[in-house]
Amino acid sequence: MSEFSLDLDEDQIQLQKWLHDFAENVIRPAAHEWDEREETPWPIIQEAANIGLYSFDFVANAFMDKSGLLMPIAAEELAWGDAGIALAILGSTLGLAGIAGNGTPEQLMEWGPQCFGTPEKPQLAAFAVSEPDAGSDVSSLRTKAVYDEAKDEWVLNGTKTWITNGGIADIHVVVASVDSTLGSRGQASFIVPPGTPGISQGQKFQKMGIRASHTAEVVLEDCRVPGHCLLGGKDKLDEKIARAKEGKRSGGQAAMKTFEGSRPTVGAQALGIARAAFEYSLEYAKERKAFGRAIIENQAIAFKLADMKTRIDASRLLVWRASWMGANGKEFTSGEGSMSKLYAGETAVYVTEEAIQILGGYGYVRDYPVERWHRDSKIFTIFEGTSEIQRLIISRAISGVHIK
Ligand SMILES: Cc1cc2nc3c(=O)[nH]c(=O)nc-3n(C[C@H](O)[C@H](O)[C@H](O)COP(=O)(O)OP(=O)(O)OC[C@H]3O[C@@H](n4cnc5c(N)ncnc54)[C@H](O)[C@@H]3O)c2cc1C
Repeated sequence: MSEFSLDLDEDQIQLQKWLHDFAENVIRPAAHEWDEREETPWPIIQEAANIGLYSFDFVANAFMDKSGLLMPIAAEELAWGDAGIALAILGSTLGLAGIAGNGTPEQLMEWGPQCFGTPEKPQLAAFAVSEPDAGSDVSSLRTKAVYDEAKDEWVLNGTKTWITNGGIADIHVVVASVDSTLGSRGQASFIVPPGTPGISQGQKFQKMGIRASHTAEVVLEDCRVPGHCLLGGKDKLDEKIARAKEGKRSGGQAAMKTFEGSRPTVGAQALGIARAAFEYSLEYAKERKAFGRAIIENQAIAFKLADMKTRIDASRLLVWRASWMGANGKEFTSGEGSMSKLYAGETAVYVTEEAIQILGGYGYVRDYPVERWHRDSKIFTIFEGTSEIQRLIISRAISGVHIK
């Protein structure tokens, strides 16, 4: 086990610098364009692939790092550049996390690299859980997976919604219900390999923020996948379902296992936006003059910046702690993963709003990046579990009471 430390070692500092350079020189100059275009920024993904940043190896190394800090450092720096482009780069990681959380080591080695492809042919992955009538309440998924024993195939039917990279991904990891009477304990995750008939993109959503990240419905119509695409394998699923039917503990829920691990990384992306807005508004406050003095000389402005910085640093502490705990197999006994995402997400909304206030009218127009950062920040109180759901998880964990 690695000791928890806030001191980055030389390798981590170098990595942080490398990521920051990419964010500053490649991502940030492209941010406005891709926000306006509302399309996947393929040239940026390609550049990230060329330098090994968009790759299975990079993400696998970051996941295996026992300090737990590489993934949050990467997410913070990329989102500092631009949150939408950062999600276009990091979105495939959620698909990979779905495989890592529920699949066998063999499945991880077979499908993991395909989530990213190669520099010659970058690929995308998606993790599809949410449905039109099942967002926060993932126990009520309607997408069904039925086993065709004669062909050793699973047949998937249903509609997924709000899926990052949905329909344009090469690998879709789909969570479906195998036995709906068991709620979330009757669910399993499936790989839908590239080129599988029966999977298609539905509506593509036009969003308020993170507009460089593609979000769409995914429609599954008699989509047949081979038996070995069931993550974890049939024996394990049968065993899990049998235990659930007997009323015993059944080893966790397919979607939740993925989200538990990914929440600190999502919090780190929120942190990146907050830091960008804080740095920008601090410089602005020193430069901007009103009533013959720099606006930062007014406590009303300086105290805002003090609060912004305090909440940003507190968010980073929560994110790094949760990420270290996850990397070292420590159980989140008080909902520490949720705390990190909750606090960093709400901090990003708060900090970016204060940044707009500090810039006044200039904060409200698209010539300046601050309004985009505010639009981008809001998703961090919604996806991967809303703030309310994070509070449910934390309050249940600390009380032992099934709070509703
Ligand atoms: C841009 C974007 C990208 C996304 N990417 C993905 C993805 O890649 N994969 C994926 O599977 N999903 C994805 N999602 C879906 C996202 O995770 C859901 O939108 C989210 O979980 C909320 O679900 P919902 O929208 O159905 O809201 P609902 O569940 O309907 O919630 C509506 C409101 O009610 C509150 N609420 C619900 N239940 C409770 C309760 N028990 N107690 C208190 N309050 C409650 C919620 O907090 C919220 O405020 C994405 C969403 C967006 C917008």
